[in-house]
Amino acid sequence: MAKKTVRDVNVSGKKVLVRVDFNVPLDKEGRVTDDTRIKAAMPTIKYLAGEKARVILMSHLGRPKGQVNESYRLDAVAVRLEQLLGAPVRKVDDCIGEQVRQAVDELGEGEVLLLENLRFYPGEEKNEPGFARQLASLGDILVNDAFGTAHRAHASNYGVAQLLPAVAGFLMEKEITMLSQVLGSPGRPFVAIMGGAKVSDKIGVIDNLLTKVDVLLIGGGMANTFFKAGGLDIGKSLLESDKVELAGQLMQKAEEKRVQLLLPVDVVVAPAVSPDADARAVPVNAVPEGGMILDIGPQTVQQFSDRLKNAATVVWNGPLGVFEMEPFAHGTMGIARALADSQAVTVIGGGDSAAAVEKAGVAGRITHISTGGGASLKFLEGKELPGVAALQDK
Ligand code: ADP
Ligand code: MG
Repeated sequence: MAKKTVRDVNVSGKKVLVRVDFNVPLDKEGRVTDDTRIKAAMPTIKYLAGEKARVILMSHLGRPKGQVNESYRLDAVAVRLEQLLGAPVRKVDDCIGEQVRQAVDELGEGEVLLLENLRFYPGEEKNEPGFARQLASLGDILVNDAFGTAHRAHASNYGVAQLLPAVAGFLMEKEITMLSQVLGSPGRPFVAIMGGAKVSDKIGVIDNLLTKVDVLLIGGGMANTFFKAGGLDIGKSLLESDKVELAGQLMQKAEEKRVQLLLPVDVVVAPAVSPDADARAVPVNAVPEGGMILDIGPQTVQQFSDRLKNAATVVWNGPLGVFEMEPFAHGTMGIARALADSQAVTVIGGGDSAAAVEKAGVAGRITHISTGGGASLKFLEGKELPGVAALQDK
């Protein structure tokens, strides 16, 4: 069901609590090294400021485990935000309490205030009613723009939403729209590419996608378990021996659902997971005894790319090899380029997959790269996300 967004409520003059995902990486000096997530929230922040709302931003950063931790303060975020906004941003050293209330009272129309790290309080992740009440008391409306935490029912995105009218920000709206569109009414052929280290991380996603897609391409470490299920020798490769039976069942389900499930026909093997290991491509039935499968081979890249060429919708989750190391990055980079060249609606879920597409330099030519790793996977599993469910329906 469609959710209300910032456009559907009157925010002028209102105190608007905005849950953003400013969980950015910091260097040793505490400076922001990647501001992608701050930039991603800018459309919502600028819109609200432009509509004369009193904008109160709240986020978590890192894992301070419910305690004040000096290295996880949001001051550096406020500095970067101020630059991006081109207007002053006031920062307070707490996210609840008197000092915060006073700062909120002083906030003028169109002005922006950033609260301190929500996870300095254990009540955030535990969704404690008392903590949620204190946060909610600061504002009139909740805008949730933090898709990255939408798969968790925390105080700021769930508890507060029970107490205040809650609507989606623009980033949240885009994520919901894109992911619902590909799962709900995909153009066909619909092709999914699954990779990553382990099949156990992705069982729910594969299971759900098998009811939706026309073609399922499998690579990465998880393919090994499928190879094994098909009776192939995989040398010293990563294997989840307790998931071989399940892999077999998934292949059977694919057959029942008339989904074409394609496994790699050739693979890159090496004696060790090392950037200077002696890597070579072999047919999938010729993996040497001491070899480890660390990437898909060139023939597979070609075969998979052909499938992407005439697809109308593509969902990709999980790198196809150990792309962090050059000898094993070619498969993932090749598929990333094929995706960029495709005319299809292309959607990427998963943190490492998003990083891989960035690394390939083709991020700008992908329809949608989800900003939420875990949240996008939950969505692809077909599960309702608590942070989304809590928003008002249109
Ligand atoms: P995402 O974050 O996009 O959901 P995953 O976390 O599931 O992706 O998987 C990413 C990891 O999988 C990467 O660190 C990559 O090195 C690893 N990986 C991919 N292929 C293999 C393989 N053949 N053997 C071991 N690890 C692999
Ligand atoms: Mg990952």
